[in-house]
Amino acid sequence: MTEKTDVVLIGAGIMSATLGALLRQLQPDWSISLFERLDAAAAESSDPWNNAGTGHSALCELNYSPQNADGSVDIIKAIDINERFQVSRQFWSYAVESGILAEPSTFINPIPHVSFVHGADNADYLRKRYEALAPQPLFEGMEFIDSPDEFSRRLPLMSRGRDFSEPIALNWTDGGTDIDFGALTQELLAYLGRSGGDLAFGHEVLDLRKQSDGSWLVKVRNLRTRETRTVNSKFVFVGAGGGALPLLQKSGIKEIDGFGGFPVSGQFFRCTNPALIQQHEAKVYGKAAVGAPPMSVPHLDTRVIKGQPGLLFGPYAGWTPKFLKDGKLTDLFKSVKPNNIFSLLGVGVTELGLTKYLVSELLKSEAGKVDTLSEFIPRADGRDWELITAGQRVQVIRRKGVGGVLEFGTAVVAAEDGTIAGLLGASPGASTGVTAMLDVMQRCFPHEYVEWTPKLKEMIPSLGVKLSDNPALFHEVWDWTSKTLGLVAGTDNTPKHAGVAVDG
Ligand SMILES: Cc1cc2nc3c(=O)[nH]c(=O)nc-3n(C[C@H](O)[C@H](O)[C@H](O)COP(=O)(O)OP(=O)(O)OC[C@H]3O[C@@H](n4cnc5c(N)ncnc54)[C@H](O)[C@@H]3O)c2cc1C
Repeated sequence: MTEKTDVVLIGAGIMSATLGALLRQLQPDWSISLFERLDAAAAESSDPWNNAGTGHSALCELNYSPQNADGSVDIIKAIDINERFQVSRQFWSYAVESGILAEPSTFINPIPHVSFVHGADNADYLRKRYEALAPQPLFEGMEFIDSPDEFSRRLPLMSRGRDFSEPIALNWTDGGTDIDFGALTQELLAYLGRSGGDLAFGHEVLDLRKQSDGSWLVKVRNLRTRETRTVNSKFVFVGAGGGALPLLQKSGIKEIDGFGGFPVSGQFFRCTNPALIQQHEAKVYGKAAVGAPPMSVPHLDTRVIKGQPGLLFGPYAGWTPKFLKDGKLTDLFKSVKPNNIFSLLGVGVTELGLTKYLVSELLKSEAGKVDTLSEFIPRADGRDWELITAGQRVQVIRRKGVGGVLEFGTAVVAAEDGTIAGLLGASPGASTGVTAMLDVMQRCFPHEYVEWTPKLKEMIPSLGVKLSDNPALFHEVWDWTSKTLGLVAGTDNTPKHAGVAVDG
């Protein structure tokens, strides 16, 4: 007999976990079943060592504030990403206050977010970026630093052995965060489980078939017993990370036509020397090399995982045709369909720069990787670092004209009738997952969303309001979320103090 459920969530990553927790709060009477092919939650991209754990809010990532041809800095994208991160902070604070999440330091910790450049032109850009962002409410407290002494005081590991005859500059913001998205996912799923959700690990979704009544037949295989079963669901969310594109293609919805995926793998250097780890307390993001894609921006990240500080550097790009770290070599080939072949070919022609970049990264030896690290840590010694394989990204390829375009963000794809939706892409990803899941809910449950709005406003007081246009409300939610998430302890990491320019 076919089981029936209201909601099927495919994949046990941060996206399904977030959507499951939101729906459980808003519609407690709905039955929810989750299927995950691996034996644990958050074992793909949401695992803490498979991503950088940066609470992306555009405080330090320079790709969100590009320089215009006239030399000015475009901050529109930076404000938008920060707005979305504030939504996540509010939902997590609500979840802590209402007992969905336990001790916040298990998943979120305060850490300065820093942009770092060298060279006179880059330092000039960073000053302009500071001048554009610091007056913005969401970026209050940002500092501009170009004094070698101040640089050395704040970033001792990065200063030893540095040749300061070349100008350096930093944008420094104390109010950044490190996030263990794995721990967050596990806690949200634990809540879903204890509130009646049916979580099946070691269960792979093989196929999806639309029924005449609008519901879906979801074919699932138990990977331990090899038995298959079908579940009938009114709504399906494909939160399968890199596995989302093939499943959405199997669903046959017209909205996925023209989409393709370009897999990019990566490696991080993880520090194995506790003495070095203790000498660095910041997430420091550099500038991508000319022609390199945004996800290639090198960064030196303090991590806090299971209460232990860590340090990682990267990413170094790699390439495999797999769509998941635990995927198959045939993934890319199988995703090529008559409806997306021109999108893929178009990108093949226009993205020669990306191909060149990937080839150069693939040819980089371990010594070459240490050379790249030495731009951040001049006295880097390869013996203090181990190479680990990061999560797999599947960049979105979308139809454009007769060809296609490669995107570096995330995209929600939903059927017109709202019975199925999925998330493609990787960045800024987990940090802005709450906004992405609200988008899924609004598109798939437009009537219920109106009824849910009062409760949603309880969870996210700024819902529907631009905080950058409402500084008073921003300060209110900032104070609340900082306090609830334990982000005010120790150093003053609130953004209330005025921006400071420390000149050399
Ligand atoms: C190198 C790297 C660095 C990153 N850094 C950051 C960062 O600093 N900050 C940030 O916010 N984001 C970052 N991201 C992005 C972030 O990791 C992702 O956006 C996020 O983890 C995606 O979550 P998800 O739930 O969509 O997918 P995942 O966490 O990948 O989960 C998908 C799950 O679906 C399962 N699945 C797949 N197919 C099936 C199937 N057929 N049946 C059942 N289960 C299936 C998989 O096994 C997996 O467990 C980074 C990503 C990468 C790769």
